[in-house]
Amino acid sequence: MVAITMDMCTGCDVCIPHCPFEALLPLVVNPGHRKHQKRPVIVVENNCVGCLSCIGSCPTNALYEIEIPVAASGSPLLHDSSQPDVEKIQRWKRNGIGVA
Ligand code: SF4
Ligand code: SF4
Repeated sequence: MVAITMDMCTGCDVCIPHCPFEALLPLVVNPGHRKHQKRPVIVVENNCVGCLSCIGSCPTNALYEIEIPVAASGSPLLHDSSQPDVEKIQRWKRNGIGVA
């Protein structure tokens, strides 16, 4: 899986089309404590399959890989994680971003 160092995320959205699973999506609201004016992108954990297609796409190196422990008894993708609201990104219609 991957994670994002939120303080390093400028919200440039470059990484979004590099994820075939729509696991990189922007927050609806920019958390108040951030130094960047634009809202960050987060990893929607339940969508991330760990393919690492996105890992080199971030110009600020905010994306990094999370190792899954060898002794894990179950996939972290199976846990029910609540996440903040994210924007919907149009991929396929006119003006959609498509995928990498
Ligand atoms: S590792 Fe793969 S599935 Fe997860 S966010 Fe990156 S591109 Fe998407
Ligand atoms: S490419 Fe990097 S800085 Fe840009 S939105 Fe994605 S994680 Fe944030």
